[in-house]
Amino acid sequence: MIGLMDCNSFYASCEQVFRPDLSGVPVVVLSNNDGCIVAMNAAAKALGIRRGTPFFQARSLLASSHAAVFSSNYALYQSMSNRVMDVVRETFPMVEIYSIDEAFIPLPYAVSDLLSLARCTKSRVEQCTGIPVSLGFGRTKTLAKIANRWAKKRFPREGCFVLQEDREEVVLRSVPVADIWGVGTRKARVLIAHGITTAWDLRNASEYWVKKRLSLVTLKTLWELRGKPSIADELVPPPRKGILSSQSFSRAVTESRELEEAVASYAERAAAKLHAQGSTAAWVSVFITTSRFAGEQRYGAGASRRLDPPADYLPDITNAALGALGEIWRPGFRYAKAGVFLFGIDTSESRQPSLFTVPDPRKAAITRAAGLIREKYGHRGLRCLHAGGHRTWSMRQEHLSPRYTTSWADIPQAR
Ligand SMILES: [Mg+2]
Repeated sequence: MIGLMDCNSFYASCEQVFRPDLSGVPVVVLSNNDGCIVAMNAAAKALGIRRGTPFFQARSLLASSHAAVFSSNYALYQSMSNRVMDVVRETFPMVEIYSIDEAFIPLPYAVSDLLSLARCTKSRVEQCTGIPVSLGFGRTKTLAKIANRWAKKRFPREGCFVLQEDREEVVLRSVPVADIWGVGTRKARVLIAHGITTAWDLRNASEYWVKKRLSLVTLKTLWELRGKPSIADELVPPPRKGILSSQSFSRAVTESRELEEAVASYAERAAAKLHAQGSTAAWVSVFITTSRFAGEQRYGAGASRRLDPPADYLPDITNAALGALGEIWRPGFRYAKAGVFLFGIDTSESRQPSLFTVPDPRKAAITRAAGLIREKYGHRGLRCLHAGGHRTWSMRQEHLSPRYTTSWADIPQAR
């Protein structure tokens, strides 16, 4: 058996842990720049609010229902996620983290009373972190996902469900194909057009037809529904093949200096991720674009620079990024977004040293020291001067909650 642990309304739950006064109150969390609603609790869902709704459209409804509105506080969510995963690991050491609020739980051994173990884990997570979770177990990852959904829908109080083989037919018959993990709307449309409307139908479909008409991925889903594990365990996520750091600005940017600040700060973020996974990049690519909606003149462009030899040294990456920006920047446009993409990623083990250039030991030492400083003081502990100090273009976060768990200044006080 394998399990799936999923935190319920995760972002909203994180906000509520430190605001017990919000119990029963609708809570929504906004995307970067406070643009759209990305998460909500059950009370907000009951108001008819859906994920992806632009904030301005829901604003009056939220105000009249006295809802609490939060900007995304990823420092808080990541730290709460780490706590949840740590508690799950106390019972199940092989936790395979799948996303910020989900983890697969492989069980290499038979557990006699899985349901009570799941119940204990759930209540321990809630006791230690305040985050409500659901646990579902099945014979494969896809079945575990379905079991988890079933737990949420059918046993909302208990929040746990073990999908035994003899119950699979009953459960799979009630799951629409579009709700199966890995089956998107496009695939679902094809399946439904061929009379395959439930997970049970897909399980019993012809392997040949599924592979020919859809893809190997869907065939794997079919095998998983039959109880044959076909989706690999990825205890350690594979290193990224490319690293993207990009964001929309809080207002239109027209000055080249401000674009340079933005590009330098995205380069910084991308370089930190590169360093954290111990890789180098051979290419730096920069893109800038005007708004797609403004009804103004549109312009978008990208340019790449080669890093030779491949590097993880921030000043090299920043210089390359600013050089590429210089190539594509045109005056007279109102820019809405910029991004930096690092590719040609090489992990340290497989890295090929250059025949013609001697690596500069000072650069490696600086990169290592910078990594240590960031570890200790956070990402803002060390900044590149190019990234600027004012950053009036940086994202809008008007409803940000305190960083309760990661900043001493924000620690909650008990009276
Ligand atoms: Mg969730």
